[in-house]
Amino acid sequence: MVFQKLKQELPGVKAKVALKNYTTYKIGGPAKYFFIAKSKIDLISALGAAKKFKLPVFILGGGSNLLISEKGFNGLVIKIDILNIDFQGKKVFVGAGANITKFAYLSADMGLSGVEWAAGVPGTVGGSIYGNAQAFGTKISDMLKSVEAINIKTLEVKNFSREECQFSLKNSIFKKDKNLIIISAVFEFEEKVPEHIKNQIREFLRYRSTKHPMDFPSAGSTFVNPEIKIKNKKLLEKFPELIEYNEKGAIPAGYLIQKSGIQGKKKGKAQISEKHANFIINLGGAKASEVMALINLAKKKVKKNFGILLVPEVQFVGFSKK
Ligand SMILES: Cc1cc2nc3c(=O)[nH]c(=O)nc-3n(C[C@H](O)[C@H](O)[C@H](O)COP(=O)(O)OP(=O)(O)OC[C@H]3O[C@@H](n4cnc5c(N)ncnc54)[C@H](O)[C@@H]3O)c2cc1C
Repeated sequence: MVFQKLKQELPGVKAKVALKNYTTYKIGGPAKYFFIAKSKIDLISALGAAKKFKLPVFILGGGSNLLISEKGFNGLVIKIDILNIDFQGKKVFVGAGANITKFAYLSADMGLSGVEWAAGVPGTVGGSIYGNAQAFGTKISDMLKSVEAINIKTLEVKNFSREECQFSLKNSIFKKDKNLIIISAVFEFEEKVPEHIKNQIREFLRYRSTKHPMDFPSAGSTFVNPEIKIKNKKLLEKFPELIEYNEKGAIPAGYLIQKSGIQGKKKGKAQISEKHANFIINLGGAKASEVMALINLAKKKVKKNFGILLVPEVQFVGFSKK
């Protein structure tokens, strides 16, 4: 009954939509209700409807940093599909739903440098700002000027300066305050010769294809690379690479997992990738619980061997909090 009323309020909304079709993991149960917001007005309408019918809201970007349980989401999932990418000199105005790889290619065509690192990342600009995505030493926050976001509760739209976004390692105010939804962002890039930018992109893509398991569905890196220094002498003697990581300021989570002896480990159809231990891959038909079991195993083993608590980068939906 609610669905009929919701449909009147929000034309285009669907019921019981399989979320596995919207995640790079190809895992995830149904959304009770599902709506694609192609504009700011669509988004405001959807949030207004959710408020009216007291529905919990989950915001979906490219689904490339998500592990969704088989239970799915018992509320309204809003997929952000605001796709504009508008260039004005060195400034770029981008919708939160724009694919970040497409953004990288278009910027290269325009002779604008700053987002090359993101070529090959399957997420959206909004999802990347949420988790302060980064690669090859550059973060999305580096070239960002401002973010336009709406508050789910008040429906107030506000512009956040870079400082107000409170960026830190794989984090932002949008991750801390789930009431904030990113609508669009403004970037300012450096001008360079397009062919140089494209060469850099090709190099990064080559690196990704040699180091990352691209043949299987995944959500990219499972854990954040911990930015800590190991002081334990015994560990430094046993694992001399840690000295170099201490100097660099971050220890690759994949290294810690590999040295914990569980690379290649399987649970059902999920596996800790043999190619890169920070990727947990779906060998075909993996369940969210199987991926989660490997996540918990990696956390337990790394804690035991190195005394480090790995923090998942992947976001979880539909799991009960312990
Ligand atoms: C092959 C592969 C390679 C990857 N490489 C990298 C990499 O190099 N660097 C890196 O940092 N990550 C990488 N990732 C992880 C992922 O692609 C990024 O984290 C990406 O930025 C996530 O964006 P998304 O749109 O897919 O977000 P989603 O997975 O859809 O969502 C992630 C979180 O962001 C929130 N969110 C999404 N959009 C919005 C919005 N508009 N407003 C508010 N909240 C929002 C969601 O609610 C959710 O909590 C990789 C993933 C894969 C599969």
